Amino acid sequence: MTKRNPGAAYPSPLTKSYLKRVLELAAISFERGWHPGTGGNFSVRGPHDIAWVSASGQHKGEMGLGDFLPIHVATAAVSSGVYRKPSDETALHCAIYRQDADARSVLHVHTPHTVALAQAPLTLASNEMLKVFGLKTHESSIVIPILPNTQDMQTLGHTVGPLLDTALKILVLEGHGVYAWGANPDEAMYRIEALEYLCQLQFYRRPSLSVAGS
Ligand SMILES: [Zn+2]
Repeated sequence: MTKRNPGAAYPSPLTKSYLKRVLELAAISFERGWHPGTGGNFSVRGPHDIAWVSASGQHKGEMGLGDFLPIHVATAAVSSGVYRKPSDETALHCAIYRQDADARSVLHVHTPHTVALAQAPLTLASNEMLKVFGLKTHESSIVIPILPNTQDMQTLGHTVGPLLDTALKILVLEGHGVYAWGANPDEAMYRIEALEYLCQLQFYRRPSLSVAGS
């Protein structure tokens, strides 16, 4: 159970409902193998410039509401009176919330096909799934923003803002994983699923997988 002082923030009813939905989605993505080790992290933005970010080192198959910690979006600092450590990638969650006023939830997962194939530039074209990213027709293309991986999330949190695509609402860290966000947790999940599906298709279309003689 998270320790808080009496003045620490508590989630609003809507924030709490979004956090419960994140827990359901976390269970789904854990079952899909998208959280090896304790990989991945999640958050929901509530009122008063507070985001609720999953705790560091939390096993994604065993999460509860008490495993989300109140973080000040402006500074990425944990609220006073909270004695657990938030995710190492808290600064990136806060950068997304600062850059995109419409973002209410951020999900970060280690989807294998996305990690395997996502090397800049990654252009995805001519597929129905593109509509998940706001495109009106499958007869178009998108370029997925990809950044080099880093262990210095504090610096990345301070510099990533202008590189975030607030229309596509997705970002890949090369060789690491994917961040997606939306007006609610499900919107973020749809983007993760769509990108993983499109990368999976590219994987199956590799020439080296062609059947000899076909
Ligand atoms: Zn990660």
